[in-house]
Amino acid sequence: MINHRIGIDFGGTKIEIIILAPDGTIILRRRTPNPRTYDAAIQTVTQLVQAAESETNTQNTIGVGIPGAISPFTGLVHNANSVWLNDRPFDRDLAAALSRPVRVENDANCFALSEASDGAATGHRVVFGVILGTGCGGAIVVDGKLITGPHRIAGEWGHNPLPWPTPDDLPYPPCFCGNTGCLERYIAGPALAADCDGAHDASEIPPRAAAGDPHATAALARHADRTARALAQIINVLDPDAIVIGGGLSNMDHLYTEVPRLLPRHVIAQRVVTPILRNKHGDSSGVRGAAWLWPATESK
Ligand SMILES: [Zn+2]
Repeated sequence: MINHRIGIDFGGTKIEIIILAPDGTIILRRRTPNPRTYDAAIQTVTQLVQAAESETNTQNTIGVGIPGAISPFTGLVHNANSVWLNDRPFDRDLAAALSRPVRVENDANCFALSEASDGAATGHRVVFGVILGTGCGGAIVVDGKLITGPHRIAGEWGHNPLPWPTPDDLPYPPCFCGNTGCLERYIAGPALAADCDGAHDASEIPPRAAAGDPHATAALARHADRTARALAQIINVLDPDAIVIGGGLSNMDHLYTEVPRLLPRHVIAQRVVTPILRNKHGDSSGVRGAAWLWPATESK
């Protein structure tokens, strides 16, 4: 029997499993539709693991990424948009079904861990991972391990207010979380789209700007400015060795060209050397990071 790592990405519509070798090679990958009920989901994950292990003659650690979190107070899933997981002890039920410990973390944590372990931020000690997509998530990895914290919210920056607001930014808009002025309302994909005349989706904006559309160019400039202010605040508090960006907006060039140029206005250091990195593993970061929930440096 060979020991590797299994990573599972538990998405709303599909469940993906990989077996990851220590050198980062994916030696097996399977996808199946998510049955979208709790008991069937436990059964599907169990069958995927059993099939993957018998096919490869391996025995593995198991990590699972979910679109939600396990409450440190109740031990139950909450805030999952795969709502059939909510209020269930998903990690414990899976561990019982698979007869071994199972680690479960949210998508942003898996993303950051993937990129810090063998992605764009490899070799950096303290890594701040950012997801800019339909929402605005974040996570912190130090020496290859996630920082979680007593509330398990370390790195979750999306519902802090946009710092150093300009007249353009005010008044602070309300957010679904109950606060006003949350970063998510300025720098996530829907906010970028809403900030550009005629855009239905944020992905339309960079090509429009490249074609000379002044509305798109101005929207990207505001987005770079706001993102830089938000990241400057992270640098002032955490001073990470690298920041890596994932999610639907992470292919936009202004994040890597304009944002670094704008950071020094608000970072209190004499110079800013923090690299802002484009992710390496793209859509595979979630499933790869789930596998890395069992770090190489840690005994099983
Ligand atoms: Zn909010």
